[in-house]
Amino acid sequence: MIDFSLTSDQKRLLELARDFSEKEIRPVALEYDRDGTYPEAILKKAHELGLMYTNIPEEYGGSGMDYVTHYVVTEALNYDCCAIGQMIGISHLSTGAILFGGTEEQKKKFLGRMTESYRSSCYCLTEPGAGSDAGAMRTMAKKTSDGYVINGSKCYITNGRDSDLLCLFATTDRTLGTKGICCFAVPRDTPGISVGRVEDKMGHRALTVTEIFFENVELGRENLIGEEGQGFKLAMMALDRGRVNIMAVCTAIAQKAFDEASNWAREREQFGQPIGNFQAIQFMLADIYALILATRAMYLHMGWMLDQNIRCTVEAASGKFFATDAAMKVTTDAVQILGGSGYMKGTVVEKLMRDAKLTQIFEGTNQINRMVSGRGILSKQCIQF
Ligand SMILES: Cc1cc2nc3c(=O)[nH]c(=O)nc-3n(C[C@H](O)[C@H](O)[C@H](O)COP(=O)(O)OP(=O)(O)OC[C@H]3O[C@@H](n4cnc5c(N)ncnc54)[C@H](O)[C@@H]3O)c2cc1C
Repeated sequence: MIDFSLTSDQKRLLELARDFSEKEIRPVALEYDRDGTYPEAILKKAHELGLMYTNIPEEYGGSGMDYVTHYVVTEALNYDCCAIGQMIGISHLSTGAILFGGTEEQKKKFLGRMTESYRSSCYCLTEPGAGSDAGAMRTMAKKTSDGYVINGSKCYITNGRDSDLLCLFATTDRTLGTKGICCFAVPRDTPGISVGRVEDKMGHRALTVTEIFFENVELGRENLIGEEGQGFKLAMMALDRGRVNIMAVCTAIAQKAFDEASNWAREREQFGQPIGNFQAIQFMLADIYALILATRAMYLHMGWMLDQNIRCTVEAASGKFFATDAAMKVTTDAVQILGGSGYMKGTVVEKLMRDAKLTQIFEGTNQINRMVSGRGILSKQCIQF
């Protein structure tokens, strides 16, 4: 029998995350969005409550949640502002490669130190000339007698300005393509790292995104995660988990939009009655609700797969484009239901629509995720039910 009920521990954590979102994030969400504020005080509090490093095992200073619990908590933390919610949960992606490829000693050293603070980590893959084609990266890791020297630059790095730990991908040999890429754990205070422009974005405004430059950054062999040439594989393994995370984020965005739109449909009157009486509005709400049910079921299913150690590359790619397209449609329809008021700056649904757009772009655009999914289907990598 399939059991969808949450355990008492999961319920407790869900309540904690919901309460945190309502009390700490909701009151400032629109203001932080307007000003693009780095949510430092909120991150500090989330860290104190154990809501920050939920995916990291307790022995490295995290809360040690399983995937299902982590994603349920993620949905709750992203309900009132997904930019702040994702700043709280950014380590989920950026420590993934270190958790899979690192030795016990490396995990204790790099993750153990990071989890002591709220500043967390960042995932440094994208470059100006290597976005969807991440394998074309130019950041070089030149081998020396006792380590590597890094030169190059990364762009659009979430939490790049403030993080304590960088999960960096660089190549030792560009002619090897993805097989030349290595993964490094790099403490932020390593000499030669500098931060460039902080981007001014359409949505996700409380999420800081920056350029990062590497100039003769000297690393030892202990900074290399996994084997040389294993970096691309580790990056993709982390993205599988990250894409399920985005599905939970999108469920939160859609749920918030649905709550705003359905409340409005009950209260706003035109032609002498609530607009919710009109079938056109009811059908939009019904479609939105169906999408929310689907995306929540998808991330729970994939969380369960990850907890069982079942590979879910094709499912995560499929779920990522489905959930993000759903969030875009749902937020657009929510603006439609609120009419002119939904289009005005400072309303929740207007923010949600801008926020939803990013989810179709980062962690692999939806075109790339459809490619990953299509290839996986043809090579029979998808699960059989
Ligand atoms: C706010 C924000 C935060 C980000 N955070 C991070 C981060 O923390 N770490 C990190 O490493 N990166 C991060 N990124 C980068 C993000 O992952 C890339 O923007 C994304 O992978 C797309 O790369 P690109 O922007 O260079 O677009 P491009 O790769 O140039 O793509 C442009 C368009 O072409 C399409 N396209 C490209 N190739 C193909 C193809 N083969 N077939 C069909 N269509 C194709 C794309 O789908 C897209 O529509 C972030 C980006 C943003 C905007």
